[in-house]
Amino acid sequence: MTISVLDRVPEELQQLAPCRINDPDLWFAESPSDVEHAKTLCQDCPVQALCLDNALERREPWGVWGGELFLQGVVIPRKRPRGRPRKDTNNGVAA
Ligand code: SF4
Repeated sequence: MTISVLDRVPEELQQLAPCRINDPDLWFAESPSDVEHAKTLCQDCPVQALCLDNALERREPWGVWGGELFLQGVVIPRKRPRGRPRKDTNNGVAA
């Protein structure tokens, strides 16, 4: 996995980044609880603010960056669990 902000900071900081210490797949997890865990781990990262700024600039398509969850370039509050679609949608079919 490429984390561009970490490629541009000193090695000592890279080694302190939670996404380098832990399984990096956690930052792109399917499970909402794993995503929340990754967001929490980011809070202890020495480059958290820089990482978030860079992810916003790049309009990251998905994943946890700088302690926030991105989807299609914007920060979203939380990942929705997989499941049935909402009842209030009609899947594009006219009623
Ligand atoms: S803020 Fe999170 S995603 Fe960004 S470098 Fe740090 S641990 Fe990795």
